Amino acid sequence: MNCAHYCQILSQKRGTCGTRENKNGKLYALNYGKVAALNIDPIEKKPLFHFLPGSRSLSLATAGCNFKCASCQNWDISQSPNLTGKIEGREISPKEIIDIALKNKLPSISYTYTEPAIFSEFALDIMKLAKKAKIKNCWVSNGFWSEELFDLNFPYLDAANIDLKSFENEFYVKYCGGKLQPVLDTLKRLKQKGIWTEITTLVIPTLNDKDKIFKDIADFIKKDLGNETPWHISQFSGAISWKLKDLPNTSFETLEKTHKIGKEAGLKYVYTGNAPGAPSEDTFCPKCGALMIDRNGYFVSRHDKDGKCSKCGEDLNLILK
Ligand SMILES: [Zn+2]
Repeated sequence: MNCAHYCQILSQKRGTCGTRENKNGKLYALNYGKVAALNIDPIEKKPLFHFLPGSRSLSLATAGCNFKCASCQNWDISQSPNLTGKIEGREISPKEIIDIALKNKLPSISYTYTEPAIFSEFALDIMKLAKKAKIKNCWVSNGFWSEELFDLNFPYLDAANIDLKSFENEFYVKYCGGKLQPVLDTLKRLKQKGIWTEITTLVIPTLNDKDKIFKDIADFIKKDLGNETPWHISQFSGAISWKLKDLPNTSFETLEKTHKIGKEAGLKYVYTGNAPGAPSEDTFCPKCGALMIDRNGYFVSRHDKDGKCSKCGEDLNLILK
């Protein structure tokens, strides 16, 4: 019920993600509480640029994913349950996670690196405790959720960065083992519930780097989600990918062109990521164009006034607390 695959798992078998098993008619989440990655990251690394900018976030994952993206950069943990049959991870309880966040004075917890939908039982238990402790919850996700999961999840969710990997269903089928429509549905539901949402598109040379795809994505964001929704255009690196090691890195020209398509479609905040020196990681006032948040790697320097432009007063769509 967690994800849009709706796997029907036969007795003694596991689902597509390799983390759920039918043991004699009872379904088990084998990855519950088994933390495969736990770090304190800048929130900008998620990337979330408009949510608690300049803060750090306790970031965690279990092994497993409901996608099999050829471009995956965390494939050693996202694909390991299916590659090895094992679910590696350190046993940590939800309460221990909260204690780590509190001890380090972290204002948020991010469910990231792999797909939180496949560890949603564990994530939800943490999220409920986080809410009580006034810690925010952020999901960094492919958005391939069931509606049932969305309904369980959204009351505790404060922010999301969702990958929109292409606007062609064929790409999702061929390179991710998923489908486009459930991702679009998740995005619309997030916006309807007022959850702060940013979008990331990894631009992969020859696979999804067509102008039409970028234009369709930008138009969808503007029309269905709102032009205040930040769009992160991210550089692909073959060397760290799972299966696309022979493809070149995304060129600066392509990143620049995509950035331009986003701006021309009317989006207020278009960012390029993973590529120092490429068009922009900075936030400019959408009205007067003044530089309001200067980002250099993960070094953030703010020139806004309580989330408004310090020159003209325009709202910069920042979530500051
Ligand atoms: Zn301004």
